[in-house]
Amino acid sequence: MKLFIPDMYQKDIFTIPYQKLKEMGYQLLIFDLDNTIGSINEKNCNLETINFLNQLSKDFQVVIASNSHKKRVQSFCRNLKCKYYSLSLKPTLKVLRKIKKDYNIDYQKMVIIGDQVVTDILVGNRKKILTILVDPILNHDLKITGFNRMVEKILNKKNGIIKGQYYEKK
Ligand SMILES: [Mg+2]
Repeated sequence: MKLFIPDMYQKDIFTIPYQKLKEMGYQLLIFDLDNTIGSINEKNCNLETINFLNQLSKDFQVVIASNSHKKRVQSFCRNLKCKYYSLSLKPTLKVLRKIKKDYNIDYQKMVIIGDQVVTDILVGNRKKILTILVDPILNHDLKITGFNRMVEKILNKKNGIIKGQYYEKK
């Protein structure tokens, strides 16, 4: 069950303690797309997030790994400088293996940030990557996510994760 527990739980991508992550030696940040850096209604990444991610690129390698199809991810990431991976198939290890190969960085130096326990957190924990759960930007999800949310609710209850009770890894 530990596989479903994030190392940190934060409100959104803006409240994550990046300075601390840097000091802890992390080098590569993997962001989920839908409901993590953008809502599913947003076709393009908003300016605030673009600037924020570009700023982060000064301290980290920043990549986006989305389970969505190429057209969606490509269009959303158009104005972002970071590399993106579509059809990631999280929680399978496919995308992590690809990132490891592309960047030649150990899993121990990676952080994965996402809004879903059964995809983002699970895949990260499978490789002992630092996992950070954030609240979804909107409560509105793709249909397929509805089922995941149901499972997540049960898992969170079991694991004592309470929505809105944010925490950081010590
Ligand atoms: Mg998501």
